[in-house]
Amino acid sequence: MRSSITETVTSIHHWNNTLFSFKTTRSPSFTFENGQFVMIGMEVDGKPLMRAYSIASVNYEDELEFFSIKVPHGALTSRLQHIKVGDQLMLSTRTAGTLVPGYLTPAKHLYLLATGTGLAPFMSIIKDPDIYEQYEKVILVHGVRYISELAYQDIICNELPNNEYFGEWVKNKLIYYPTVTREAYSTAAHQKRITHLLINNELTQEIGLPALNPTSDRVMLCGNQAMIDDTMTILNDLGFVKATSRKQGDYVIEHAFIEK
Ligand SMILES: Cc1cc2nc3c(=O)[nH]c(=O)nc-3n(C[C@H](O)[C@H](O)[C@H](O)COP(=O)(O)OP(=O)(O)OC[C@H]3O[C@@H](n4cnc5c(N)ncnc54)[C@H](O)[C@@H]3O)c2cc1C
Repeated sequence: MRSSITETVTSIHHWNNTLFSFKTTRSPSFTFENGQFVMIGMEVDGKPLMRAYSIASVNYEDELEFFSIKVPHGALTSRLQHIKVGDQLMLSTRTAGTLVPGYLTPAKHLYLLATGTGLAPFMSIIKDPDIYEQYEKVILVHGVRYISELAYQDIICNELPNNEYFGEWVKNKLIYYPTVTREAYSTAAHQKRITHLLINNELTQEIGLPALNPTSDRVMLCGNQAMIDDTMTILNDLGFVKATSRKQGDYVIEHAFIEK
């Protein structure tokens, strides 16, 4: 069996100087679970240069979507940020990752906590109608440094609530909580780090839900190492149990990138 396939870029959107999204064709044989990642890349000097990317599209969509950082001098992204419609990209055929809702035991509320491009897998998950069937509330927190990094707001706040099939569920169940740490934005609470919002129960108080607890809440984390480490400590102290690929649990994590 082939280990990689080629897909064609169909659209590109630059959010700012550091972030962009792009869509590609999707081979019918390419299947994945919402929340998973795949290796994508291009040939450089005759060799494949591949990096892990969370899939930002949902598994019923015809195209694949990715949300990318532009790392200055980054081996892949210094090239990838210049792709054009019609260019070809390589994708591994195997998808992976434990950031999938199926690893969580049933509960009432699902917290999706992301920093930066860690939003990508959650864009897939919040387009999945099954999620709204399973949970009473789905809370998406996106922590960024600058307002211009709050990508996908139009889809989250306008498109999804008006989706003809599950828009009503989104209106009633999805709570979107952006937070910006390095410039003035909305209220003071929307300018705090995710961990600060959790430690003082500020987030749950603001959105009118009970303090975070393992009986009613499940959590998915995707972001930078510090956010994941600190949030795991908070969750472990509250009695949450991390899920593994062998055993369901109360929370799952995925690193949005690896620090080198
Ligand atoms: C499971 C997994 C899923 C990932 N999903 C995504 C995704 O959906 N979108 C995405 O842009 N990247 C994602 N990444 C990171 C991605 O694999 C690459 O690191 C990124 O594309 C940069 O590649 P590069 O070759 O240009 O630089 P690299 O040499 O890979 O990275 C250089 C440095 O840039 C920083 N960096 C890398 N990626 C990021 C990032 N996303 N945000 C902030 N800083 C970063 C790190 O400090 C890293 O050491 C994921 C990584 C993992 C492990």
